[in-house]
Amino acid sequence: MTDDASTILLVEDDDATRSFLADNLLADGHDVITADCARHGWRLMETKFPDLALVDVGLPDGSGLDLVRRVREADGVASRVDPLLPILVLSGRRGELDRIRGFEKGCDDYVVKPFSYSELRARVSALLRRAHRRPGMGRLRVGTLELDPPSREVTVRGKRVDLSQKEFALLRALAAEPLRVFTKEELLRGVWGFRSFGVTRTLDSHACRLRQKLGRDGDRYVVNVWGVGYRLVDGPVGA
Ligand code: CA
Repeated sequence: MTDDASTILLVEDDDATRSFLADNLLADGHDVITADCARHGWRLMETKFPDLALVDVGLPDGSGLDLVRRVREADGVASRVDPLLPILVLSGRRGELDRIRGFEKGCDDYVVKPFSYSELRARVSALLRRAHRRPGMGRLRVGTLELDPPSREVTVRGKRVDLSQKEFALLRALAAEPLRVFTKEELLRGVWGFRSFGVTRTLDSHACRLRQKLGRDGDRYVVNVWGVGYRLVDGPVGA
């Protein structure tokens, strides 16, 4: 295994397709883990942290698209499943409506069976390339603030700050793009997974506590952008 070997999760109940794909992805240098139903696929996402998932739509215990939706609704902290996991859906349905439904459930790409392996391989590489560019599970540093997602450790000027699960998830979401203003709807969806956006008071109270905890030494990290949402830093980082 090389350093850049990606772990690909394959959720597919058809034995022939599963072994064909697993053999070829292995030959292309990926690590492959496989599941033959949605339940097992979810468990592997929680325990093996794959870099990408290939998900068949017709699974014996439900639709692969419901699995995709469940991943997108994960909060990334309590369930340990990465809500931004790149997912490519494999489907026997080639209709426009079916493809649109796939994207609406949150898949990143959609390949219709029977597929050509070289095309699938190209699509997998493109998704992995894009995913490696996003700020993921690695250590994040914003000015004097540091976050370590795997251990959930947060420090300001080297001093440890204790955060609740949700406060940490909120901080991690904001730290992914420190200067961007995130709308309340985005944060609620990303951190709480709410589908209805009525409960902004929950967000406001967490943001307020987070601001107090990070701002003990006069640092201003969590900024309320009136009428819009929040961003992490006010002005130039480290100023
Ligand atoms: Ca199937």
